[in-house]
Amino acid sequence: MNSDVQYIIDATKAHHELFKNSLPMIASENVTSPTVRRLIASDLGHRYAEGKVGHRYYQGCKYIDQVEAKAIELAKRLFDAEHVNVQPVSGVNANLAAFLAVAAHGDLLMSLGVPDGGHISHAKYSAAGIRGLRIKTYPFDEEKMNIKTDLIVKKILELKPKVLMFGGSLFLFPHPINEARSAADEVGAKIIYDAAHVLGLIAGKQFQDPLREGADIVTCPTHKSFPGPQGALILCKSDVADAVDRAVFPGTTSNHHLHHKAGLAVTLAEMLVFGEEYAKQMISNAQALAQALYDMGLDVLCKDNGFTQSHQVAIDVSKCGGGAKVALNLEKANIITNKNLLPWDDVNNPGNPSGIRLGTQELTRLGMKEPEMKKIARFFKRIIIEEEDPEKVKNGVISLKKGYQKVHYCFDGEGAYEPPFR
Ligand SMILES: *Cc1c(COP(=O)(O)O)cnc(C)c1O
Repeated sequence: MNSDVQYIIDATKAHHELFKNSLPMIASENVTSPTVRRLIASDLGHRYAEGKVGHRYYQGCKYIDQVEAKAIELAKRLFDAEHVNVQPVSGVNANLAAFLAVAAHGDLLMSLGVPDGGHISHAKYSAAGIRGLRIKTYPFDEEKMNIKTDLIVKKILELKPKVLMFGGSLFLFPHPINEARSAADEVGAKIIYDAAHVLGLIAGKQFQDPLREGADIVTCPTHKSFPGPQGALILCKSDVADAVDRAVFPGTTSNHHLHHKAGLAVTLAEMLVFGEEYAKQMISNAQALAQALYDMGLDVLCKDNGFTQSHQVAIDVSKCGGGAKVALNLEKANIITNKNLLPWDDVNNPGNPSGIRLGTQELTRLGMKEPEMKKIARFFKRIIIEEEDPEKVKNGVISLKKGYQKVHYCFDGEGAYEPPFR
């Protein structure tokens, strides 16, 4: 075997071994079912299908049309959407397309500040900045970790934005779309809702329903709490459908990663059947984890509001050495998390923020329930509060994980989560 090739295969095998023995708790990741994994390795990943179903620029798209039409049909049914475009290849790509569809260079965007949980693509650093939007951030309640509902209408009427962006990356509670809608109408603003983190919860009808609450466009990465392949889709109202379609192609994509769209269609079918049960379990796992961590002495955010209504939990670890140190120590025990800015942190100094962010979506997909959340909270206590050597905690982590190697909430009958190259 060529040594460079062997090097890559070995690194991939080692990566599989690491995740087989780890607790994956990064809130933006998930695992796909065995059927989806097989589709991702199919020939679809070699092809192009520019254009729309039935109107392609290249030949050879007969079966690709079947796949994409089915994905659109399933997404319409699952999310009860007037229009669906499944072609964006990522969340940032979908946001850029949404901005292209309903805003012009120089328009004003209101969005969540990055330390308050907003994503970089809602800020000057990424998609919103590239589109040339001016940006004002929402008034934010640090106690409730949400947009200030009582001030939002006043701010919208005062600033007269063209676009309101809801959704975020640190996202514990539903955003006040309902409250903003009539003010948005008054100033002629469109509402985009970025469902990246919470799409799986929305699929299971356990969070909020952005289209019914007043969003014009919902941008949806399909690989966070929604357990599909990496990629995205857009849901929207009919009156912006043509603008959205043109903004996706030819606006911001060419190839749309057809193997991932086949996997997306299967995940949509999985969520039509298992979505509600999965979403309920993700949320009760997050609440159980938050409560257990709090009981063990950790500074979990938003106790007075029940800690969380999503798959996420946020902890302020500034008194325990800060987010960077804590995330690193957890990693030494095979617990994979990330450091995270909290509202009181400096956005220009993201290196050692106060927080860590946790997500229960992947552990839930692997079959864990409330009792396992309590066991995991014990590991956190030993590492963060008792400052035990993480290497000593690692054995317990590995032995807990041994019983959770299969993907649930899919048609593979708890099919083995067997990666290639093991
Ligand atoms: C993760 C995330 C994105 C980006 O999705 P990618 O697929 O990584 O481009 C966009 N918006 C929010 C709120 C996110 O959390």
